[in-house]
Amino acid sequence: MLKIKNLRKTYKITKHKIIALDNISFDLPNGKLVAIVGPSGCGKTTMMNLIGALDADFEGDVIVNGKSLKAAGEKEIDTYRKNTVGFIFQQFNLLNSLTAIQNIDIALDLSGTTKENKTKKGHNLLSRVGLTDQINKKVNLLSGGQRQRVAIARALANDPQIILADEPTGALDVETGKQVMELLKEISKEKLVLMVTHAPELAKAYADIIVEMEDGKVISIEENTASISTAASSSKKIETKSKMSFYTAFKMSLRNAWLKKGRTLATAIGTSIGICGISLALAITSGTTHSVNTQIKGIFPSNAITVGLKENGDKINNIKPLKYSDINSVLSLNSNIYAYNFEIEGKGMPLSYFYSLDENIIKDKDLMSKMSDQTTKEKLATIMSPSVLADVKNDIQYGNLPKKGSTNEIVISLSTAKNLEKNGGNLKALIGKSIYVRYLKNGFNPNSNQVSNTETPIVRTWKIAGIANTTTLIDTYYATSPWLINFYEKEFKIDKKALKSDFLVVYLKNTKNLDSDLQTLNKSQNKYKFELTGKTISAQVEGAMKQVRYALLGFAGVSVVVAALMISIVVYISVLERTNEIGILRAVGARKRDILNVFVAESFIIGVLSAGIGLLLTLGISKVINSVVYGYLKNAIPNAPYMEVAKLPLNDAGLIMLFCIVLSMIAGFYPSLKASKMDPIDALRGK
Ligand code: ADP
Ligand code: MG
Repeated sequence: MLKIKNLRKTYKITKHKIIALDNISFDLPNGKLVAIVGPSGCGKTTMMNLIGALDADFEGDVIVNGKSLKAAGEKEIDTYRKNTVGFIFQQFNLLNSLTAIQNIDIALDLSGTTKENKTKKGHNLLSRVGLTDQINKKVNLLSGGQRQRVAIARALANDPQIILADEPTGALDVETGKQVMELLKEISKEKLVLMVTHAPELAKAYADIIVEMEDGKVISIEENTASISTAASSSKKIETKSKMSFYTAFKMSLRNAWLKKGRTLATAIGTSIGICGISLALAITSGTTHSVNTQIKGIFPSNAITVGLKENGDKINNIKPLKYSDINSVLSLNSNIYAYNFEIEGKGMPLSYFYSLDENIIKDKDLMSKMSDQTTKEKLATIMSPSVLADVKNDIQYGNLPKKGSTNEIVISLSTAKNLEKNGGNLKALIGKSIYVRYLKNGFNPNSNQVSNTETPIVRTWKIAGIANTTTLIDTYYATSPWLINFYEKEFKIDKKALKSDFLVVYLKNTKNLDSDLQTLNKSQNKYKFELTGKTISAQVEGAMKQVRYALLGFAGVSVVVAALMISIVVYISVLERTNEIGILRAVGARKRDILNVFVAESFIIGVLSAGIGLLLTLGISKVINSVVYGYLKNAIPNAPYMEVAKLPLNDAGLIMLFCIVLSMIAGFYPSLKASKMDPIDALRGK
């Protein structure tokens, strides 16, 4: 059944050539216990490794059941290692962190049996070697003899025809050694057991055939009549393809990742920082864009159209403002326009800055120095800019628009109303009340961010006609044209023609044909540009956010590259640590692919963990950012809405998960490939 033909093996060390096996030929039948004896260094181990196909670099041939190892391909060799031979090593070569049965499972996993079958088979094997009580004990808690029994059970797992045992009793005491020999003798009833031994008395006592070697040569093959010969049984066996499922590879790596929890976690956390950077960049930019867009929708009704000068092009800075006279020109273009909003601004324009229901506070000469007083603060509303409003009925929450021809009525925003009624009073009760406004003739100096303290206060009294619910951050008060203009002309000697505004917003009566109306408006003349208000600002915000996004992603990208390197190194370290395991796996028949899978699976696990941690971090940090921003906004604007300025869309989270997993698998691929290419015999030696 086993035929050795002109077997020759030379090792090359630098320029020296060591002939380890020198033209060996012999035949061995099934059902025998064969002892190979000889002095140290005579080539016994080398021969066993060649028969076991752990080493493919040799001359001559090993023929098993008529099949040549020399002619076999890689696939056949893997199947041969799994099905035809079983290894028993002097140093056991078990995975010490696993239990007895888990060690057997590794070999059984390769034949792809069902879980039930596997458990049953594992139990049978361990009871056969007398370890029924130690099934779930970790190997490193077992004695040497017990470990060797586990190794024997593993060697038998796939029911091989040849058992190769290289000094199986070498690490055991005499008594335990004898027990192991009994076991091997028993096994040799139906298999060919090839055993290397240093102890001639063991060979004499148990072996059916004794092969004596010296200096790489076989010097004698003798039948040992002292031992009782056992009859060969001719059991046929079914060969299964050598294959480990990805699930098994995954399970093994999961076990390893758990064993090295500290390192796995540290790596995952390291990687997750980069991932968190990326997801935060996406969360902040998309959250802000979304929040701003929602605000814009709240501020501007869908029928709001921004009017600008065509000569401005797409510039954002240095926009040429529209003049008051432009209002009429624009209104005359289309009868569908029913309302407009013209924000008054410009150099030298008196600014209405402080509002209160309390006349005394507004008239107080020392208002500026009392700003920080709690009582003063409570009765004061600040920062509003005046807008000329034709008619935006939909916004009115309480009260009405100023009456036609009215000369002292205004509409205030909900946020101003709440500001005036800080103590949670009835907002409705504000309607009809007088509101005192202090004007700053010299306006507001944006450079010093301060209001002049020296000028004599100009105070005017208005009546609150209505409260408009604009959920807006821009706080505006509205008064109808023409009286607001007349008011400015009269009170401040403002030249109508000098009024200007960056923003003229017009409202269309009929929104059914908004797009074609826009087109008509744009085509009918050359001076003005009409755009949907929300769209214009959204586009600007989105454009700006895109740039922020690229910048942030750039930073995050660097840390991701570092993370990938780290994963690569960690997987490489893992390969080094698990070299022995790689050797064992290969010896029991695992393919290169299986080894690759084991380590790619490890990278996969790191990837999933990193993404998980990174996304959780992002979630936490986003929450913090949102509440900080909200706290800040609420301080500045009492009516500020809660906005999720940092919010990672679910889709993006999924993509990041995928990206992270793919990235770590790519990072881990090279070391995994190296692991899979390791020579089984080198790996077993720990090289
Ligand atoms: P044994 O098992 O009989 O003690 P080996 O088969 O291990 O002997 O070794 C046979 C010869 O081959 C020895 O001279 C040994 O030094 C040499 N040898 C074994 N393995 C290697 C190797 N990997 N590289 C170089 N020489 C080796
Ligand atoms: Mg040896």
